[in-house]
Order: sequence, then C-alpha cells, then structure tokens
Amino acid sequence: MSIGELYNRGEKIDSSKFGADPGISTEPISSKVEASPNGVINSTAAYRCKKCRRVVALQENVVGHVPGEGETSFEWYKRRSGNPFDKSSECECSSIFVEPLRWMTTVEEGALEGKLTCAHCEARLGYFNWSGIQCSCGSWVTPAFQLHKSRVDISTV
Ligand SMILES: [Zn+2]
Ligand SMILES: [Zn+2]
Repeated sequence: MSIGELYNRGEKIDSSKFGADPGISTEPISSKVEASPNGVINSTAAYRCKKCRRVVALQENVVGHVPGEGETSFEWYKRRSGNPFDKSSECECSSIFVEPLRWMTTVEEGALEGKLTCAHCEARLGYFNWSGIQCSCGSWVTPAFQLHKSRVDISTV
C-alpha cells in the first residue's frame, strides 16, 4: 500500500514511513559513487537548498511523472513532436516531485497541504498536497511533495 493510500485511510503517517533525510548522511560520501563495469563513474544527483546548500533530496527520492500527461496539457507542449519519454522534455517541468522525506516536519504534523521549508535555513522550497499538485507540464502528481527547481540547485554528491 502506498503512503498516499495510507493517508487517505486516515492512518497516522509518522516519519518512519518517510525516506531517509539525505541531508543527514551516515555513510561516507564515497560509498555513493560506484564505478560501473565499464569504468564510468555513476554519481548520484543531489538537490540542494539554493540558499544554504543543504542536501534536500537525492535523485533516488525523485518521483518521476510523464510530462504533459493529463487533460489540461498545454497546447505548446502538444505541438512539440517527439517521444514523451525523451529526457530532454523533462526540462519543461518547473518543479521536481519527491517522496516524503524526514526533514518535512510540516508533512509529519498531518496537514493535508502546506509549505515545504528547508530544515536548515527555513527557505521556502516548495509545497505539498496529499490530494495532488499539477506540474507546470500539465501532469498531476498525487500525493505531491513538490520542490521548485528555482529554489534548489542540482549537483552530484
Ligand atoms: Zn512535469
Ligand atoms: Zn536552506
């Protein structure tokens, strides 16, 4: 059962069901970087608060969606030909959506929706809503834990 279904059933969502806080790493950073058999280094992309540089999400925390899926897709998107799974089209989304993480204390408090603020500097990073949020590409993500790309920096750990 997904965490969204648990919430809709009125279950208490405590932080033990959340993803680990990537800003509090118990492992050495080097363990995140693995060499693949062909020698290419795979490093994990990390999203950091733009203001204080705290890591707020890792690539593995990101919940993907198909850009433009949904009834209210913008016309300009439909005019663009090509594969909707094409990685380049993901740039059109102005936010990323992640799983609930342990630094999201407002989520843990049980509200249906609210702001997501950085656990370190309290900068506003995004918004969450258990009923879903519509991405700039037109897709609905439910439940939604949205981080605005303009508020975070993408780097490698
Ligand atoms: Zn999108
Ligand atoms: Zn911050």
